Amino acid sequence: MHVPFCRRRCRYCDFTSADFDSDLARQVVAALVAELDRRAPARARPMRTIFIGGGTPSILPVRLLETLLENVARRRSRQTEFSVEANPDSLSKETLAMFRTFGVNRLSIGVQSFVDKELRVLGRPHSARQAREALARSRAAGLENVSADLIYGIPGQTLESWRFSLQQAVDADVKHVSCYCLSYPEGTPLANDLAAGRVKEMEEDVQRESYELAIEVLRDVGLRQYEISNFARAGCMCRHNITYWKNEAYIGIGPGAASYVGGCRFTNVPEIARYVAKIGFGPDAIASSEELVGWQHMAETLMLMLRMRRGVLRQPFRRRFGVDPLEAFENVFQKHRQYGLVNISPRSIRLTPQGLFVCDSLFSELVTQKDPSTRLS
Ligand code: SF4
Repeated sequence: MHVPFCRRRCRYCDFTSADFDSDLARQVVAALVAELDRRAPARARPMRTIFIGGGTPSILPVRLLETLLENVARRRSRQTEFSVEANPDSLSKETLAMFRTFGVNRLSIGVQSFVDKELRVLGRPHSARQAREALARSRAAGLENVSADLIYGIPGQTLESWRFSLQQAVDADVKHVSCYCLSYPEGTPLANDLAAGRVKEMEEDVQRESYELAIEVLRDVGLRQYEISNFARAGCMCRHNITYWKNEAYIGIGPGAASYVGGCRFTNVPEIARYVAKIGFGPDAIASSEELVGWQHMAETLMLMLRMRRGVLRQPFRRRFGVDPLEAFENVFQKHRQYGLVNISPRSIRLTPQGLFVCDSLFSELVTQKDPSTRLS
């Protein structure tokens, strides 16, 4: 579920999100609840996982947050993994207590860095001190399963300052860390700074060293890499995101949210006002849909599964698609094996540590390879 509001826009962000506005927020929450009722009636079986993200869900005033959580919580059971995203500057004791009341059992906090200078480059609305306090407050409130998002590749960041941020997350005893390399989406203020030469992109070999440093530092304290950008203690992998990486079904609620149901991918309109109007006056807010079938479905599933350290298990894949993944994409996999990017065994196909860092070319070859049956005709 996508809550599309933020205190202010970070300089690198191109997500669907707007500055907080209380009137619009009331309308959006009503629309989210209405869409949820239509797409996932409360009388249906409970959800395996729920993820309320954004945007910044924790920015909602207590009353609105309560309405939202109350409605969402009707879809949970004791086994449900129920995650909410929050930013350090909007995580009050009251909000945390409410999360506990409605069964939220996983918190994902957008820390990004523990160095104030780097937070300013990113345009984040909080300080490193606020991040430390938010992590401590979450634990004190009894939320044990906390994840911290961190960014490497920030202009001005060094390997030492990156190590410091990783260590601070470890010291805060988080159970999960997501490490993303900074990107410069077109049209964002940071991309404009880059184009004008006001900031300098981190060199690729330093980015790679930062990535390797994260793997090493986090592994040494028991946070094992289980996906390209994600690290967790045993039993704390994000089940919700694993659903995406296995290309299994999910329902997306909110402006710009994507769903994958019955082999079809649907995407809602991204504009907030249009989303509210479409849910208010029509049956849904879908802007586009695409059916994933046959070869394309298989290639996309492979690409998503390869993101995970355990890779693609060949036997279950054969059962799902009726063909061995190596047989279907032999030339792509053998070529990347020669480069040392892929490990192939009778049981699985996995990216090597080097392959995890440079997986884009393999992924694009997988999804652009034509179905052999159509190549023959
Ligand atoms: S808090 Fe997250 S969603 Fe909001 S502007 Fe910053 S990066 Fe984007």
